[in-house]
Amino acid sequence: METERAAMRSVQTRMVWSYLLLIVLVVTVLGAAFAILMWNYYYGSAQSSVKQRVESAMALHSRSLASLTLQDQADYMLQYMTEGGPARIQLLNSAGVLRIDSDGFAPGIQYGTDDVRTAMTGTMGSWKGVDPFYGERVISVTAPLWNEARVVSMVRYTASLRQVDDMVAQLIRMATFAGLAVILLFLGLSLFLAQRIVMPIRELTRAARYMAEGDWSRKAAKRSDDEIGQLAETFNAVMGELNKREKLKNDFISSISHELRTPLTSIKGWSETLRESEPGEDDEEVKLGLSIISKETDRLAGLVEDLLDFSKLSARTMELQRETLDLNSPVKETVSQLAVREEGTKVKLAAEYGEGPILISGDANRLKQVVINIIDNAYKFTPAGGQVSIRTDAEAGYGTITILDTGSGIAPEDLPHVQEKFFKANNSHGGSGLGLAICREIIELHGGRLEIESDRGAGTAVKVRLPLLSDDE
Ligand code: ADP
Repeated sequence: METERAAMRSVQTRMVWSYLLLIVLVVTVLGAAFAILMWNYYYGSAQSSVKQRVESAMALHSRSLASLTLQDQADYMLQYMTEGGPARIQLLNSAGVLRIDSDGFAPGIQYGTDDVRTAMTGTMGSWKGVDPFYGERVISVTAPLWNEARVVSMVRYTASLRQVDDMVAQLIRMATFAGLAVILLFLGLSLFLAQRIVMPIRELTRAARYMAEGDWSRKAAKRSDDEIGQLAETFNAVMGELNKREKLKNDFISSISHELRTPLTSIKGWSETLRESEPGEDDEEVKLGLSIISKETDRLAGLVEDLLDFSKLSARTMELQRETLDLNSPVKETVSQLAVREEGTKVKLAAEYGEGPILISGDANRLKQVVINIIDNAYKFTPAGGQVSIRTDAEAGYGTITILDTGSGIAPEDLPHVQEKFFKANNSHGGSGLGLAICREIIELHGGRLEIESDRGAGTAVKVRLPLLSDDE
């Protein structure tokens, strides 16, 4: 039980892990793409808005600023350029030292940031990072001021990134939460799915285990129409079939035992009686006893013979010695063999043969066995003065042997069962109940059919059909 559960859990675990891996991968890739997109969008637009401001300010003021001294530039800047927008403006000298900012501070800090260094070389530069003077994250754009082909000073615009940072951080937080939620959702979903697949398999295994332990009554529940449902159905079908066979086998064994017991009891009884009788006493009884013992022994031998045939047939090990033959010939032989019975039974045996040769492929001895069996039955159930007739014919691709009797017939409710093994409609006549079952098997091995019709009180017609050889065979 434990190993089964462990194995099942591992199927489930494997499934859940693969789902999870997949979804984590997808969520990570999508999340990263989203983050990169947001990042570029927000920081990009912050940067370009600062840049735009610098460009328009330069277009407006660079010419006026160019000719001024640094001191005058500072005044000019404070007077004309501080209006509008959240950005701060700084004036740096050509070495990057801060001379003044829009708030009027002049701490003399040396700037070495990328934007400033780019501006020193003569082009506008931008940078993002923690500003050494303001101590907060900013985006900065610096433009050089030229005088006679020389960078004399630089104007630096900085915009705080606090809001943008907050916004981006919040978006990333939200995306992370959403991603985690999706992953959790899928974890639950995959657990559920795996459970649904594993559960019926587990049930099937359990049913199989019960079966292995000999409990045949368990069935696997069919929960769905998919492959697993089909597996359960097939499993149940197999189990049903095995169950049926087991039952048949048990029935078979108990019938055989029963059949064997009757003659054995009789033999045992008579042999006891004979042993206890004094020599010379009642010779008649001794004769009767011995003849009964002999008859019962014959019955046992016949039964064993039938059983051997029958087990060969059900194990499908009986092999036909097939040859091409005229259906009339095994019938003729049988009839001449049985004709002597007319005298003892006062039942006439009449035969009528169809125009020969009726060619079939068959085992002559087995076919004789079939005919003897059927004629035996006919004799058994036909009282003195009656008639048994046998007729051969060819019709519609079949060679036929019909055995008719004027005997007791078979009750309609018994008719469907007389070909079953061990079925005996009338117990008083002895016999194993295997005769017709064996006949049917032999005929079916030949590819033919056995048909029985009967009228209670009027007689019985047994018809054997065997496929005719076609011309090219
Ligand atoms: P058995 O070997 O005991 O004769 P069969 O399989 O040959 O068993 O026959 C089964 C039963 O079918 C018989 O017990 C009998 O009741 C019935 N039956 C078979 N042939 C005839 C017949 N010609 N007339 C009446 N009953 C028959």
